[in-house]
Amino acid sequence: MTTTHAPSAPLPEVLSQAARRRTFAVISHPDAGKSTLTEALALHARVIGSAGAVHGKAGRRGTVSDWMDMEKARGISITSAALQFEYRDAVVNLLDTPGHADFSEDTYRVLTAVDAAVMLIDAAKGLEAQTMKLFAVCKHRGIPVITVVNKWDRPGKDALELMDEVSERTGLTPTPLTWPVGISGDFRGVLDRRDGSYHRFTRTAGGATIAPEEVLPAAAALAREGDAWTTAVEESELLDATEADHDQERFLAGETTPVIFASAVSNFGVGALLDILVDLAPAPTPRPDAEGAARPVEAPFSAFVFKVQSGMDAAHRDRLAYIRIASGVFERGMVVTHSTTGRPFATKYAQHVFGRDRESVDVAYPGDVVGLVNANALHVGDTLYADAKVTYPPLTTFAPEHFAVVRGKDTAKFKQFRRGIGQLNSEGVAQVLRSDRRGDAAPVLAVVGPMQFEVAVHRMENEFGAPVSIDHLPYTIAVRTDAASAPAVAAARGVEVLQREDGELLALFMDKWDLRTLQQRNPELTLEPMVAAQL
Ligand code: GDP
Repeated sequence: MTTTHAPSAPLPEVLSQAARRRTFAVISHPDAGKSTLTEALALHARVIGSAGAVHGKAGRRGTVSDWMDMEKARGISITSAALQFEYRDAVVNLLDTPGHADFSEDTYRVLTAVDAAVMLIDAAKGLEAQTMKLFAVCKHRGIPVITVVNKWDRPGKDALELMDEVSERTGLTPTPLTWPVGISGDFRGVLDRRDGSYHRFTRTAGGATIAPEEVLPAAAALAREGDAWTTAVEESELLDATEADHDQERFLAGETTPVIFASAVSNFGVGALLDILVDLAPAPTPRPDAEGAARPVEAPFSAFVFKVQSGMDAAHRDRLAYIRIASGVFERGMVVTHSTTGRPFATKYAQHVFGRDRESVDVAYPGDVVGLVNANALHVGDTLYADAKVTYPPLTTFAPEHFAVVRGKDTAKFKQFRRGIGQLNSEGVAQVLRSDRRGDAAPVLAVVGPMQFEVAVHRMENEFGAPVSIDHLPYTIAVRTDAASAPAVAAARGVEVLQREDGELLALFMDKWDLRTLQQRNPELTLEPMVAAQL
Protein backbone atom coordinates (compact mmCIF):
# COMPACT_ATOMS: atom_id res chain seq x y z
CA MET A 1 0.00 0.00 0.00
CA THR A 2 2.94 2.29 0.62
CA THR A 3 3.75 4.18 -2.50
CA THR A 4 7.02 5.91 -2.87
CA HIS A 5 6.62 9.46 -3.99
CA ALA A 6 9.52 11.54 -5.12
CA PRO A 7 10.34 13.96 -2.32
CA SER A 8 8.94 17.41 -2.97
CA ALA A 9 11.87 19.14 -1.26
CA PRO A 10 15.50 18.16 -1.69
CA LEU A 11 15.36 16.27 1.58
CA PRO A 12 16.58 12.73 1.85
CA GLU A 13 13.70 10.43 0.97
CA VAL A 14 13.54 9.03 4.48
CA LEU A 15 13.02 12.47 6.04
CA SER A 16 10.26 13.49 3.69
CA GLN A 17 8.57 10.10 4.04
CA ALA A 18 8.80 10.21 7.83
CA ALA A 19 7.39 13.73 7.82
CA ARG A 20 4.23 12.57 6.10
CA ARG A 21 3.60 9.67 8.50
CA ARG A 22 0.89 9.93 11.15
CA THR A 23 0.88 6.94 13.47
CA PHE A 24 -1.87 6.78 16.06
CA ALA A 25 -4.26 4.57 18.01
CA VAL A 26 -7.76 5.05 19.34
CA ILE A 27 -8.21 4.82 23.09
CA SER A 28 -11.74 4.24 24.30
CA HIS A 29 -14.02 2.16 26.47
CA PRO A 30 -15.72 -0.84 24.81
CA ASP A 31 -18.81 0.27 22.84
CA ALA A 32 -17.79 3.90 22.42
CA GLY A 33 -17.61 3.29 18.68
CA LYS A 34 -13.97 2.46 17.97
CA SER A 35 -14.70 -0.20 15.36
CA THR A 36 -17.26 2.04 13.71
CA LEU A 37 -14.79 4.93 13.64
CA THR A 38 -11.98 2.74 12.29
CA GLU A 39 -14.22 1.60 9.52
CA ALA A 40 -15.33 5.16 8.79
CA LEU A 41 -11.72 6.38 8.66
CA ALA A 42 -10.81 3.65 6.23
CA LEU A 43 -13.86 4.50 4.16
CA HIS A 44 -12.92 8.16 4.03
CA ALA A 45 -9.47 7.29 2.93
CA ARG A 46 -11.16 5.11 0.32
CA VAL A 47 -9.37 2.00 1.38
CA ILE A 48 -12.66 0.20 1.15
CA GLY A 49 -15.71 0.81 -0.98
CA SER A 50 -18.38 0.84 1.66
CA ALA A 51 -18.34 0.61 5.41
CA GLY A 52 -18.42 -2.89 6.76
CA ALA A 53 -15.39 -4.46 5.19
CA VAL A 54 -13.08 -4.05 8.14
CA HIS A 55 -15.60 -4.67 10.84
CA GLY A 56 -16.20 -8.06 12.38
CA LYS A 57 -19.64 -7.76 13.84
CA ALA A 58 -23.23 -8.68 13.03
CA GLY A 59 -23.26 -10.34 9.65
CA ARG A 60 -20.76 -8.06 8.01
CA ARG A 61 -17.75 -9.51 6.23
CA GLY A 62 -15.41 -9.61 9.15
CA THR A 63 -11.74 -9.14 8.56
CA VAL A 64 -10.45 -7.46 11.65
CA SER A 65 -10.22 -10.07 14.26
CA ASP A 66 -12.45 -13.04 13.97
CA TRP A 67 -9.61 -15.52 14.19
CA MET A 68 -10.70 -17.06 17.43
CA ASP A 69 -13.93 -18.86 18.14
CA MET A 70 -13.87 -17.56 21.64
CA GLU A 71 -13.47 -14.05 20.44
CA LYS A 72 -16.44 -14.46 18.15
CA ALA A 73 -18.56 -15.89 20.92
CA ARG A 74 -17.75 -12.99 23.17
CA GLY A 75 -17.89 -10.39 20.44
CA ILE A 76 -14.65 -8.81 21.53
CA SER A 77 -11.52 -7.93 19.70
CA ILE A 78 -8.40 -9.64 21.00
CA THR A 79 -5.93 -9.30 18.17
CA SER A 80 -4.03 -6.24 17.18
CA ALA A 81 -2.90 -5.03 13.83
CA ALA A 82 -2.35 -1.89 11.85
CA LEU A 83 -4.29 -0.25 9.08
CA GLN A 84 -2.38 1.94 6.67
CA PHE A 85 -3.90 4.37 4.21
CA GLU A 86 -3.08 7.53 2.38
CA TYR A 87 -5.02 10.69 3.06
CA ARG A 88 -4.22 13.97 1.32
CA ASP A 89 -0.45 13.83 1.09
CA ALA A 90 -0.05 11.90 4.34
CA VAL A 91 0.33 8.23 5.13
CA VAL A 92 -1.83 7.35 8.12
CA ASN A 93 -1.06 4.32 10.28
CA LEU A 94 -3.90 3.36 12.58
CA LEU A 95 -2.81 0.79 15.13
CA ASP A 96 -5.65 -1.33 16.39
CA THR A 97 -6.00 -1.68 20.13
CA PRO A 98 -7.80 -4.63 21.66
CA GLY A 99 -11.10 -3.52 23.08
CA HIS A 100 -11.63 -5.64 26.13
CA ALA A 101 -10.51 -4.34 29.51
CA ASP A 102 -8.64 -7.55 30.23
CA PHE A 103 -6.31 -7.04 27.35
CA SER A 104 -5.09 -3.72 28.53
CA GLU A 105 -1.49 -4.95 28.70
CA ASP A 106 -1.53 -5.49 24.95
CA THR A 107 -3.03 -2.08 24.48
CA TYR A 108 -0.36 -0.49 26.63
CA ARG A 109 2.27 -1.97 24.35
CA VAL A 110 0.53 -0.65 21.27
CA LEU A 111 0.69 2.80 22.84
CA THR A 112 4.49 2.56 22.90
CA ALA A 113 4.38 2.46 19.12
CA VAL A 114 2.22 5.51 18.36
CA ASP A 115 2.94 9.21 18.07
CA ALA A 116 -0.57 10.38 18.93
CA ALA A 117 -3.82 9.02 20.35
CA VAL A 118 -7.47 9.68 19.58
CA MET A 119 -9.55 9.57 22.74
CA LEU A 120 -13.02 8.49 21.70
CA ILE A 121 -15.81 9.33 24.13
CA ASP A 122 -19.44 8.27 24.05
CA ALA A 123 -21.41 11.53 24.43
CA ALA A 124 -23.84 9.88 26.83
CA LYS A 125 -21.22 8.24 29.01
CA GLY A 126 -18.35 10.67 29.14
CA LEU A 127 -14.96 9.41 30.30
CA GLU A 128 -15.22 5.74 31.21
CA ALA A 129 -12.87 3.49 33.17
CA GLN A 130 -10.92 1.91 30.31
CA THR A 131 -10.48 5.26 28.59
CA MET A 132 -9.04 6.75 31.76
CA LYS A 133 -6.58 3.87 32.19
CA LEU A 134 -5.36 4.22 28.63
CA PHE A 135 -5.25 7.97 28.92
CA ALA A 136 -2.95 7.52 31.94
CA VAL A 137 -0.52 5.65 29.69
CA CYS A 138 -0.64 8.41 27.06
CA LYS A 139 0.00 11.00 29.73
CA HIS A 140 2.86 8.96 31.19
CA ARG A 141 4.43 8.71 27.74
CA GLY A 142 3.67 12.30 26.78
CA ILE A 143 1.57 11.31 23.76
CA PRO A 144 -0.57 14.15 22.36
CA VAL A 145 -4.28 13.33 22.57
CA ILE A 146 -7.09 14.37 20.21
CA THR A 147 -10.58 14.05 21.68
CA VAL A 148 -13.57 12.91 19.66
CA VAL A 149 -17.00 13.16 21.28
CA ASN A 150 -18.93 10.44 19.47
CA LYS A 151 -22.62 9.54 19.13
CA TRP A 152 -23.77 13.17 19.20
CA ASP A 153 -26.76 11.97 17.18
CA ARG A 154 -28.00 10.27 20.34
CA PRO A 155 -29.21 11.87 23.58
CA GLY A 156 -26.30 12.41 25.94
CA LYS A 157 -24.53 14.91 28.13
CA ASP A 158 -24.30 18.64 27.66
CA ALA A 159 -21.32 19.75 25.56
CA LEU A 160 -19.97 22.28 28.06
CA GLU A 161 -20.33 19.73 30.86
CA LEU A 162 -18.36 17.23 28.83
CA MET A 163 -15.59 19.79 28.38
CA ASP A 164 -15.50 20.30 32.16
CA GLU A 165 -15.32 16.55 32.65
CA VAL A 166 -12.39 16.24 30.23
CA SER A 167 -10.56 19.07 31.88
CA GLU A 168 -11.16 17.88 35.45
CA ARG A 169 -10.43 14.22 34.90
CA THR A 170 -7.53 14.38 32.45
CA GLY A 171 -5.95 17.67 33.43
CA LEU A 172 -5.89 18.59 29.72
CA THR A 173 -7.40 21.86 28.57
CA PRO A 174 -9.98 21.02 25.90
CA THR A 175 -9.64 23.21 22.82
CA PRO A 176 -12.71 22.43 20.70
CA LEU A 177 -12.11 22.90 16.99
CA THR A 178 -15.77 22.27 16.24
CA TRP A 179 -18.78 22.93 18.42
CA PRO A 180 -22.10 21.11 18.07
CA VAL A 181 -25.15 22.86 16.69
CA GLY A 182 -28.11 21.22 18.43
CA ILE A 183 -27.96 19.32 21.71
CA SER A 184 -26.92 15.66 21.75
CA GLY A 185 -29.74 13.72 20.16
CA ASP A 186 -30.55 16.69 17.92
CA PHE A 187 -27.36 16.84 15.90
CA ARG A 188 -27.78 19.57 13.24
CA GLY A 189 -24.10 20.00 12.51
CA VAL A 190 -21.02 21.74 13.86
CA LEU A 191 -19.71 25.26 14.06
CA ASP A 192 -16.13 25.29 12.84
CA ARG A 193 -14.49 27.46 15.49
CA ARG A 194 -11.54 28.22 13.25
CA ASP A 195 -13.50 30.09 10.58
CA GLY A 196 -17.03 30.38 11.98
CA SER A 197 -18.58 28.33 9.20
CA TYR A 198 -21.39 25.81 9.62
CA HIS A 199 -20.92 22.18 8.60
CA ARG A 200 -24.36 20.71 8.32
CA PHE A 201 -24.87 17.14 9.51
CA THR A 202 -25.97 14.92 6.70
CA ARG A 203 -26.90 11.31 7.03
CA THR A 204 -26.41 8.55 4.55
CA ALA A 205 -28.24 5.27 4.62
CA GLY A 206 -26.57 3.34 7.44
CA GLY A 207 -23.47 5.46 7.04
CA ALA A 208 -22.52 3.21 4.17
CA THR A 209 -21.06 5.84 1.90
CA ILE A 210 -19.09 8.98 2.52
CA ALA A 211 -21.44 11.62 3.88
CA PRO A 212 -21.40 14.72 1.70
CA GLU A 213 -20.35 17.76 3.72
CA GLU A 214 -22.47 20.83 3.29
CA VAL A 215 -20.63 23.97 4.42
CA LEU A 216 -22.63 27.17 4.95
CA PRO A 217 -21.55 30.65 6.02
CA ALA A 218 -22.76 31.95 9.40
CA ALA A 219 -25.67 34.00 8.03
CA ALA A 220 -27.10 31.02 6.17
CA ALA A 221 -26.60 28.88 9.27
CA LEU A 222 -28.61 31.30 11.38
CA ALA A 223 -31.42 31.36 8.83
CA ARG A 224 -31.49 27.62 8.74
CA GLU A 225 -31.01 26.57 12.36
CA GLY A 226 -32.23 29.62 14.30
CA ASP A 227 -31.76 29.26 18.07
CA ALA A 228 -29.61 26.14 17.81
CA TRP A 229 -27.07 28.16 15.82
CA THR A 230 -27.24 31.14 18.17
CA THR A 231 -26.63 28.89 21.17
CA ALA A 232 -23.64 27.24 19.48
CA VAL A 233 -22.16 30.67 18.68
CA GLU A 234 -22.70 31.85 22.26
CA GLU A 235 -21.17 28.73 23.76
CA SER A 236 -18.24 28.95 21.42
CA GLU A 237 -17.68 32.56 22.48
CA LEU A 238 -17.83 31.44 26.09
CA LEU A 239 -15.02 29.04 25.29
CA ASP A 240 -12.98 31.84 23.71
CA ALA A 241 -12.73 33.35 27.16
CA THR A 242 -11.26 30.19 28.69
CA GLU A 243 -8.02 29.62 26.75
CA ALA A 244 -9.89 27.06 24.69
CA ASP A 245 -8.18 27.95 21.44
CA HIS A 246 -5.84 25.49 19.85
CA ASP A 247 -2.18 26.05 20.57
CA GLN A 248 0.07 23.63 18.69
CA GLU A 249 2.93 23.77 21.17
CA ARG A 250 0.71 23.10 24.15
CA PHE A 251 -1.03 20.28 22.29
CA LEU A 252 2.29 18.59 21.47
CA ALA A 253 3.42 19.08 25.05
CA GLY A 254 0.38 17.15 26.25
CA GLU A 255 -1.26 20.14 27.94
CA THR A 256 -4.28 20.63 25.70
CA THR A 257 -6.51 18.39 23.62
CA PRO A 258 -8.28 19.47 20.43
CA VAL A 259 -11.90 18.32 20.49
CA ILE A 260 -14.38 17.56 17.74
CA PHE A 261 -17.96 16.33 17.80
CA ALA A 262 -18.88 13.38 15.67
CA SER A 263 -21.26 10.63 14.75
CA ALA A 264 -19.04 7.83 13.57
CA VAL A 265 -21.98 5.68 12.53
CA SER A 266 -23.06 8.43 10.09
CA ASN A 267 -19.46 9.19 9.09
CA PHE A 268 -19.92 12.72 10.34
CA GLY A 269 -16.78 14.33 11.78
CA VAL A 270 -14.59 11.64 10.32
CA GLY A 271 -13.15 13.84 7.58
CA ALA A 272 -12.50 16.51 10.19
CA LEU A 273 -10.62 14.01 12.31
CA LEU A 274 -8.43 12.98 9.38
CA ASP A 275 -7.65 16.61 8.64
CA ILE A 276 -6.68 17.17 12.28
CA LEU A 277 -4.42 14.14 12.21
CA VAL A 278 -2.68 15.39 9.10
CA ASP A 279 -2.52 19.06 10.12
CA LEU A 280 -1.85 18.80 13.85
CA ALA A 281 -0.70 15.33 14.93
CA PRO A 282 3.07 14.91 15.08
CA ALA A 283 5.16 12.98 12.58
CA PRO A 284 7.63 10.45 14.00
CA THR A 285 10.32 12.06 16.15
CA PRO A 286 13.74 10.70 17.18
CA ARG A 287 13.27 7.81 19.60
CA PRO A 288 15.41 7.62 22.75
CA ASP A 289 17.46 4.42 23.04
CA ALA A 290 18.15 2.49 26.24
CA GLU A 291 20.87 5.00 27.18
CA GLY A 292 18.55 7.92 26.54
CA ALA A 293 20.26 9.11 23.35
CA ALA A 294 17.73 9.97 20.64
CA ARG A 295 18.24 8.20 17.31
CA PRO A 296 17.40 10.55 14.43
CA VAL A 297 14.69 9.30 12.08
CA GLU A 298 17.15 9.51 9.17
CA ALA A 299 19.68 7.25 10.95
CA PRO A 300 20.07 3.73 9.53
CA PHE A 301 17.12 1.38 9.90
CA SER A 302 15.96 0.55 13.41
CA ALA A 303 12.69 -0.76 14.81
CA PHE A 304 11.26 -2.40 17.89
CA VAL A 305 8.84 -5.26 18.33
CA PHE A 306 5.66 -4.13 20.07
CA LYS A 307 3.54 -7.18 19.45
CA VAL A 308 4.01 -10.84 18.67
CA GLN A 309 1.13 -12.96 17.54
CA SER A 310 0.49 -16.33 16.05
CA GLY A 311 -2.35 -18.34 14.65
CA MET A 312 -4.15 -15.34 13.18
CA ASP A 313 -6.38 -17.65 11.22
CA ALA A 314 -6.47 -21.12 9.83
CA ALA A 315 -5.01 -20.11 6.48
CA HIS A 316 -1.92 -18.50 7.97
CA ARG A 317 -0.68 -20.60 10.85
CA ASP A 318 2.43 -18.69 11.52
CA ARG A 319 4.05 -16.33 13.90
CA LEU A 320 4.11 -12.61 13.31
CA ALA A 321 6.21 -10.01 15.03
CA TYR A 322 4.94 -6.47 14.54
CA ILE A 323 7.66 -3.89 14.41
CA ARG A 324 7.31 -0.15 14.49
CA ILE A 325 10.03 1.52 12.48
CA ALA A 326 11.88 4.14 14.50
CA SER A 327 14.51 5.22 11.98
CA GLY A 328 15.71 4.67 8.45
CA VAL A 329 14.26 2.81 5.52
CA PHE A 330 12.98 -0.74 5.68
CA GLU A 331 13.34 -2.76 2.52
CA ARG A 332 11.95 -6.23 2.32
CA GLY A 333 14.70 -8.80 2.14
CA MET A 334 17.24 -6.72 3.99
CA VAL A 335 19.19 -8.53 6.66
CA VAL A 336 19.15 -6.72 9.97
CA THR A 337 20.59 -7.45 13.40
CA HIS A 338 18.54 -8.68 16.33
CA SER A 339 19.91 -6.60 19.15
CA THR A 340 19.18 -9.09 21.97
CA THR A 341 21.15 -11.94 20.39
CA GLY A 342 23.41 -10.09 17.97
CA ARG A 343 22.22 -12.54 15.30
CA PRO A 344 21.21 -11.60 11.77
CA PHE A 345 17.51 -11.58 10.96
CA ALA A 346 16.38 -11.87 7.33
CA THR A 347 13.22 -9.90 6.57
CA LYS A 348 12.21 -11.95 3.56
CA TYR A 349 8.56 -12.11 4.55
CA ALA A 350 7.27 -8.73 5.56
CA GLN A 351 3.65 -7.74 5.46
CA HIS A 352 1.10 -5.15 6.28
CA VAL A 353 -1.53 -6.94 8.26
CA PHE A 354 -4.96 -5.78 9.12
CA GLY A 355 -7.13 -8.60 10.30
CA ARG A 356 -7.01 -11.22 7.59
CA ASP A 357 -5.88 -8.92 4.85
CA ARG A 358 -2.21 -9.14 4.10
CA GLU A 359 -0.04 -7.44 1.60
CA SER A 360 3.65 -7.67 1.07
CA VAL A 361 5.61 -4.65 2.16
CA ASP A 362 8.52 -3.75 -0.05
CA VAL A 363 9.56 -0.53 1.55
CA ALA A 364 8.53 1.21 4.76
CA TYR A 365 9.55 4.30 6.70
CA PRO A 366 9.66 5.61 10.26
CA GLY A 367 6.20 5.44 11.81
CA ASP A 368 5.16 2.43 9.74
CA VAL A 369 4.27 -0.95 11.14
CA VAL A 370 5.47 -4.09 9.46
CA GLY A 371 4.50 -7.65 10.32
CA LEU A 372 7.47 -10.00 10.07
CA VAL A 373 6.47 -13.56 9.32
CA ASN A 374 8.12 -16.61 10.91
CA ALA A 375 9.81 -14.37 13.41
CA ASN A 376 10.42 -17.10 15.95
CA ALA A 377 13.42 -15.46 17.55
CA LEU A 378 11.72 -12.13 18.18
CA HIS A 379 10.15 -11.18 21.49
CA VAL A 380 8.05 -8.23 22.49
CA GLY A 381 10.33 -5.28 23.20
CA ASP A 382 13.25 -6.48 21.04
CA THR A 383 15.17 -4.12 18.79
CA LEU A 384 16.21 -4.73 15.17
CA TYR A 385 18.74 -2.49 13.48
CA ALA A 386 20.96 -2.14 10.44
CA ASP A 387 24.51 -0.74 10.38
CA ALA A 388 24.62 1.39 13.52
CA LYS A 389 23.81 -0.61 16.66
CA VAL A 390 20.97 0.57 18.83
CA THR A 391 18.87 -0.96 21.60
CA TYR A 392 15.56 0.59 22.55
CA PRO A 393 14.41 0.35 26.15
CA PRO A 394 12.45 -2.80 26.96
CA LEU A 395 8.68 -2.40 27.00
CA THR A 396 7.20 -2.30 30.44
CA THR A 397 5.91 -5.59 31.78
CA PHE A 398 3.09 -4.98 34.17
CA ALA A 399 2.76 -6.52 37.58
CA PRO A 400 0.75 -9.73 37.22
CA GLU A 401 -2.10 -10.15 39.67
CA HIS A 402 -3.35 -13.63 38.81
CA PHE A 403 -1.35 -16.84 38.94
CA ALA A 404 -2.09 -20.42 37.95
CA VAL A 405 -0.25 -23.69 37.38
CA VAL A 406 -0.66 -25.01 33.86
CA ARG A 407 -0.33 -28.72 33.08
CA GLY A 408 -0.67 -30.72 29.90
CA LYS A 409 -3.61 -33.13 30.00
CA ASP A 410 -1.83 -35.57 27.72
CA THR A 411 1.75 -36.45 28.67
CA ALA A 412 2.40 -37.71 25.14
CA LYS A 413 1.99 -34.12 23.93
CA PHE A 414 4.82 -32.68 26.02
CA LYS A 415 6.68 -31.32 23.00
CA GLN A 416 3.59 -29.43 21.85
CA PHE A 417 3.04 -28.25 25.42
CA ARG A 418 6.53 -26.78 25.65
CA ARG A 419 6.25 -25.10 22.29
CA GLY A 420 2.90 -23.55 23.14
CA ILE A 421 4.01 -22.27 26.53
CA GLY A 422 7.14 -20.78 24.96
CA GLN A 423 5.00 -19.04 22.36
CA LEU A 424 2.55 -17.58 24.88
CA ASN A 425 5.51 -16.29 26.85
CA SER A 426 7.19 -14.55 23.95
CA GLU A 427 3.91 -13.01 22.82
CA GLY A 428 3.44 -11.60 26.29
CA VAL A 429 0.07 -13.37 26.70
CA ALA A 430 1.38 -14.58 30.05
CA GLN A 431 4.64 -14.44 31.94
CA VAL A 432 5.90 -18.00 32.42
CA LEU A 433 7.46 -18.71 35.80
CA ARG A 434 9.32 -21.85 36.81
CA SER A 435 11.02 -23.43 39.77
CA ASP A 436 12.90 -26.68 40.33
CA ARG A 437 10.23 -27.74 42.77
CA ARG A 438 7.40 -27.35 40.27
CA GLY A 439 9.34 -28.78 37.36
CA ASP A 440 9.08 -28.19 33.64
CA ALA A 441 5.74 -29.92 33.21
CA ALA A 442 3.93 -27.58 35.60
CA PRO A 443 5.05 -23.98 35.10
CA VAL A 444 3.15 -21.05 36.57
CA LEU A 445 1.40 -18.57 34.32
CA ALA A 446 1.26 -15.00 35.64
CA VAL A 447 -1.20 -12.57 34.04
CA VAL A 448 -2.59 -9.09 34.51
CA GLY A 449 -6.21 -9.95 33.64
CA PRO A 450 -7.80 -13.35 34.33
CA MET A 451 -9.18 -13.61 30.82
CA GLN A 452 -5.63 -14.16 29.62
CA PHE A 453 -5.89 -17.64 31.20
CA GLU A 454 -8.86 -18.43 28.98
CA VAL A 455 -6.93 -17.31 25.95
CA ALA A 456 -3.98 -19.46 27.01
CA VAL A 457 -6.13 -22.57 27.54
CA HIS A 458 -7.95 -22.08 24.25
CA ARG A 459 -4.79 -21.56 22.26
CA MET A 460 -2.86 -24.41 23.87
CA GLU A 461 -5.56 -26.82 22.76
CA ASN A 462 -6.57 -25.38 19.40
CA GLU A 463 -3.34 -23.98 18.13
CA PHE A 464 -0.66 -26.16 19.65
CA GLY A 465 -2.61 -29.41 20.06
CA ALA A 466 -1.81 -29.61 23.76
CA PRO A 467 -4.95 -29.49 25.94
CA VAL A 468 -4.13 -28.10 29.38
CA SER A 469 -5.67 -27.73 32.79
CA ILE A 470 -5.28 -24.65 34.94
CA ASP A 471 -5.06 -24.60 38.74
CA HIS A 472 -5.37 -21.17 40.23
CA LEU A 473 -2.90 -20.19 42.93
CA PRO A 474 -3.83 -17.95 45.85
CA TYR A 475 -1.16 -15.30 45.14
CA THR A 476 -2.10 -11.74 44.18
CA ILE A 477 1.21 -9.88 44.20
CA ALA A 478 4.55 -10.39 42.47
CA VAL A 479 7.69 -8.45 43.38
CA ARG A 480 11.22 -8.66 42.10
CA THR A 481 13.87 -10.24 44.26
CA ASP A 482 17.44 -11.41 43.61
CA ALA A 483 19.58 -14.50 44.07
CA ALA A 484 21.01 -13.28 47.37
CA SER A 485 17.61 -12.68 48.94
CA ALA A 486 15.73 -15.55 47.31
CA PRO A 487 16.42 -18.31 49.89
CA ALA A 488 15.26 -16.17 52.82
CA VAL A 489 12.23 -14.90 50.90
CA ALA A 490 11.23 -18.41 49.84
CA ALA A 491 11.48 -19.59 53.44
CA ALA A 492 8.78 -17.15 54.57
CA ARG A 493 5.32 -18.60 55.11
CA GLY A 494 2.98 -18.45 52.13
CA VAL A 495 5.66 -17.08 49.78
CA GLU A 496 7.08 -18.71 46.68
CA VAL A 497 10.03 -17.63 44.53
CA LEU A 498 9.98 -18.45 40.83
CA GLN A 499 12.15 -17.58 37.88
CA ARG A 500 10.81 -15.82 34.82
CA GLU A 501 11.98 -16.78 31.34
CA ASP A 502 14.28 -13.74 31.17
CA GLY A 503 16.03 -14.80 34.39
CA GLU A 504 14.24 -12.33 36.67
CA LEU A 505 13.36 -13.80 40.09
CA LEU A 506 9.82 -13.04 41.24
CA ALA A 507 8.48 -13.57 44.74
CA LEU A 508 4.75 -14.27 44.92
CA PHE A 509 2.71 -13.19 47.92
CA MET A 510 -0.90 -13.88 48.83
CA ASP A 511 -1.55 -10.33 49.94
CA LYS A 512 0.18 -7.07 50.68
CA TRP A 513 0.17 -7.74 54.45
CA ASP A 514 2.40 -10.77 54.00
CA LEU A 515 4.70 -8.69 51.84
CA ARG A 516 4.80 -5.82 54.34
CA THR A 517 5.47 -8.11 57.29
CA LEU A 518 8.42 -9.70 55.52
CA GLN A 519 9.77 -6.29 54.48
CA GLN A 520 9.51 -4.96 58.02
CA ARG A 521 11.16 -7.96 59.64
CA ASN A 522 13.90 -8.26 57.03
CA PRO A 523 14.58 -4.82 55.57
CA GLU A 524 17.81 -6.11 54.00
CA LEU A 525 15.93 -8.35 51.55
CA THR A 526 15.50 -7.21 47.96
CA LEU A 527 11.75 -6.91 47.32
CA GLU A 528 11.06 -4.41 44.55
CA PRO A 529 7.60 -3.62 43.24
CA MET A 530 6.89 -4.11 39.52
CA VAL A 531 4.97 -1.49 37.51
CA ALA A 532 1.29 -1.72 38.37
CA ALA A 533 -1.10 -2.13 35.47
CA GLN A 534 -2.99 0.99 36.54
CA LEU A 535 0.18 3.11 36.48
P1 GDP B 1 -16.40 -0.44 19.98
O1 GDP B 1 -16.70 -1.47 21.00
O2 GDP B 1 -15.82 0.79 20.60
O3 GDP B 1 -15.60 -0.92 18.81
O4 GDP B 1 -17.83 0.06 19.45
P2 GDP B 1 -18.57 -0.22 18.08
O5 GDP B 1 -17.95 0.52 16.96
O6 GDP B 1 -18.78 -1.67 17.92
O7 GDP B 1 -19.96 0.51 18.39
C1 GDP B 1 -20.78 0.12 19.47
C2 GDP B 1 -22.22 0.41 19.12
O8 GDP B 1 -22.41 1.82 19.03
C3 GDP B 1 -22.63 -0.15 17.78
O9 GDP B 1 -23.95 -0.59 17.89
C4 GDP B 1 -22.53 1.04 16.85
O10 GDP B 1 -23.39 0.95 15.76
C5 GDP B 1 -22.92 2.18 17.77
N1 GDP B 1 -22.35 3.45 17.35
C6 GDP B 1 -21.05 3.72 17.05
N2 GDP B 1 -20.91 5.02 16.74
C7 GDP B 1 -22.13 5.59 16.83
C8 GDP B 1 -22.63 6.91 16.62
O11 GDP B 1 -21.91 7.84 16.26
N3 GDP B 1 -23.95 7.09 16.83
C9 GDP B 1 -24.80 6.09 17.23
N4 GDP B 1 -26.06 6.37 17.42
N5 GDP B 1 -24.36 4.85 17.42
C10 GDP B 1 -23.05 4.59 17.23
